[in-house]
Amino acid sequence: MNSIVTFPNRIPVQEFEERRFKVFTDRQLDKIEAIQDLPEETLFEMKVVASVLPFRVNEYVINELINWDKVPNDPIYQLVFPQKGMLKDEHYEQMAQLHRDGADKKDIQALAKQIRDDLNPHPAGQMEMNMPELDGEVLDGVQHKYRETVLFFPAQGQTCHSYCTFCFRWAQFVGDKDLKMASTEAEKLHGYLQEHTEVTDLLVTGGDPMVMKTKNLVQYLEPLLQPEFDHVQTIRIGTKALTFWPYRFVTDKDADELIELFAKLVDAGKHVAIMAHYNHWQEITTDIAEEAIRRIRATGAEIRAQGPLIKHVNDNADDWAKLWKREVKLGIIPYYMFVERDTGAKNYFEVPLAEAYNIYREAMKKVSGLARTARGPSMSAGPGKVEIQGIAEIQGEKVFVLRFLQGRNPDWVQRPFFAKYSETATWLHELEPAFGEEKFFFEDEFEQMKKGNG
Ligand code: SF4
Repeated sequence: MNSIVTFPNRIPVQEFEERRFKVFTDRQLDKIEAIQDLPEETLFEMKVVASVLPFRVNEYVINELINWDKVPNDPIYQLVFPQKGMLKDEHYEQMAQLHRDGADKKDIQALAKQIRDDLNPHPAGQMEMNMPELDGEVLDGVQHKYRETVLFFPAQGQTCHSYCTFCFRWAQFVGDKDLKMASTEAEKLHGYLQEHTEVTDLLVTGGDPMVMKTKNLVQYLEPLLQPEFDHVQTIRIGTKALTFWPYRFVTDKDADELIELFAKLVDAGKHVAIMAHYNHWQEITTDIAEEAIRRIRATGAEIRAQGPLIKHVNDNADDWAKLWKREVKLGIIPYYMFVERDTGAKNYFEVPLAEAYNIYREAMKKVSGLARTARGPSMSAGPGKVEIQGIAEIQGEKVFVLRFLQGRNPDWVQRPFFAKYSETATWLHELEPAFGEEKFFFEDEFEQMKKGNG
């Protein structure tokens, strides 16, 4: 007879000490020992930028992921610490002046709000186009952009273990209620999913849902084991915790319960995918990060890796190749290379699409087939996820070959289309149709959708 091996036997736990989660925000910059030797001007710049773009970093990131000998060029330092160039010069100067004058909190916050409004806080029509309804009521914290996938933003997961300064979710972290997308209501989510049997995938996202206590996650996910949710086959959880706080999966008080939840969902036939954000191989070099990965994989859940290509952090082929190789070695599936979004500090982080494609291609050439599962470079734009497939010359015209990996209309998916080549364009709206066409094939339909007629 086969013996059934159940949790926790199948997950031998290595010895790791529990660690206290210690976090610093813009109000505690002077408490971060590691930065106290940086030039005073740099510390002032951090303070100025952090009063506009949210800043939060934890001790593990500071002490174990950043190589301080390389600062300011260390990629993780660039990822989480505010840098002067993240604000436009005029915005920086305005805010710096307030700080120099010792302005009060109210004035600083008022200017910060004004600057943020200028930074396209909700790209890709997030607040207007993706809001679903249940019984005639708009569902906060739920988005339904693509037919088969529902995104859920649990209210308790609207923050993150550290803030990446490139993050397109920054608007959710600045405490402005109008900008947040969050839900507290498990019941409404379940009601919506029950009605929408076309939905096969639930993506739990944030912020970072892994900042939630396991008991909250259980409340959202366990009911999906009931037969009325059989159509929801896949549960994806987007997280950066594998990088910023791997203790979440190993030694935190409810880490075992969390691992048990994954195992339970998998054992009941759900496909559980942890969508891990990775930007740089340096993020997966600690023993605790490896252990977290090992424990998750031992439940039968898979880990897929995704992250944007960003200047100052990972804008070269060698780092991407090294990241993908390391992921494959640890059993992670490379999934997406994204293009930096048109929001927040994009001036500082953006990389032209042509350069992004060349980096992608060069990196692909350096890895084996198992790492070539990474798609990209891909833009999560209003009409859908658009991938740059190549740069080609067709009938004497240099063009980008593009395709939808995901589209608001499923019929757009996989359809190749062409844009005039550009050295400088960084986002879909900067591209022009090739071959003298006036519009891209999807534009009229997308405009109709925006007006609510789609
Ligand atoms: S949500 Fe992801 S990208 Fe945004 S700050 Fe957190 S880890 Fe960084």
